[in-house]
Amino acid sequence: MFDNLSEKLDKAFHVLKGHGQITEINVAETLKEVRRALLDADVNFKIAKEFTNTVKEKALGQNVLTTLQPGQLMIKLVKDELTQLMGGDTEGIDLTGNPSVILMSGLQGSGKTTFSGKLANYLKNKKSKKPLLVACDVYRPAAIDQLHVVGDQIGVEVYSDRDNNDPVAIAKAGVAHAKSAGCNVVIIDTAGRLAVDEQMMTEISNIHKAIAPQETLFVVDSMTGQDAVNTAKAFNDVLNFDGVILTKLDGDTRGGAAISIKSVVDKPIKFIGTGEKMEAIDVFHPSRMADRILG
Ligand code: GDP
Repeated sequence: MFDNLSEKLDKAFHVLKGHGQITEINVAETLKEVRRALLDADVNFKIAKEFTNTVKEKALGQNVLTTLQPGQLMIKLVKDELTQLMGGDTEGIDLTGNPSVILMSGLQGSGKTTFSGKLANYLKNKKSKKPLLVACDVYRPAAIDQLHVVGDQIGVEVYSDRDNNDPVAIAKAGVAHAKSAGCNVVIIDTAGRLAVDEQMMTEISNIHKAIAPQETLFVVDSMTGQDAVNTAKAFNDVLNFDGVILTKLDGDTRGGAAISIKSVVDKPIKFIGTGEKMEAIDVFHPSRMADRILG
């Protein structure tokens, strides 16, 4: 995960590490390398620039040059700033509803169906919830089958209606079914497209309005870098979603989406997907991620 970025940041700090004394030139050079590493990781130019400017100001404010271990202090400043950029604190999901309705949104292939299963499995095993999965993709019968396979695998009921082609009606019926079946969480998997289009946005927006979910989550493939950030913006403009799910972090060597998405849409990353298996789900901790990136 983010191996390229970690390696480049490590190189950037090389000049400072081990030095008892450093100069302003060393600091400037290091921050230039940090900025380059962020740009190579596919972090947006403006964010990378602001990031290094902030670290520079803090470094000067704390008199980095006169401290005993200036290299360590610089690494700490970068780590703190990365943590802030990725969201600061860990944010949970709202499970206070009865049932709590969670709406999944995102492009086709982003990992929505897989994540819906992972989240149901997590809530069942870790939070002692009784979830219901609802299949709202009326365009691809294979998507309904896929959710049933996932449900069977984790022992969670799946609600679907193959004869109905109205996703709003299916979502509503799914919530009603959850109530009668005593399920306290409903996870609604929706149809995605390969790119943002008006019909998909109208459909997800209609489902959103009709069921007023406690949580609307936007699922995105972290390997798509800046595209992930742009797609997040498009979905957030329409849905004003509550949180981001970053999938496929196991294959992401760059890290640009993880680093920039929070500051662009101002919504927290809540969970990450780290593999294809149902157990490959983690709560997102900004500070732990910053630790991982900086090694
Ligand atoms: P959807 O179209 O948004 O519902 O996407 P799917 O859930 O069908 O996922 C698309 C592909 O990505 C599938 O082959 C999944 O196994 C895979 N996938 C989903 N999440 C992850 C993840 O966190 N890591 C990896 N490596 N693959 C994932």
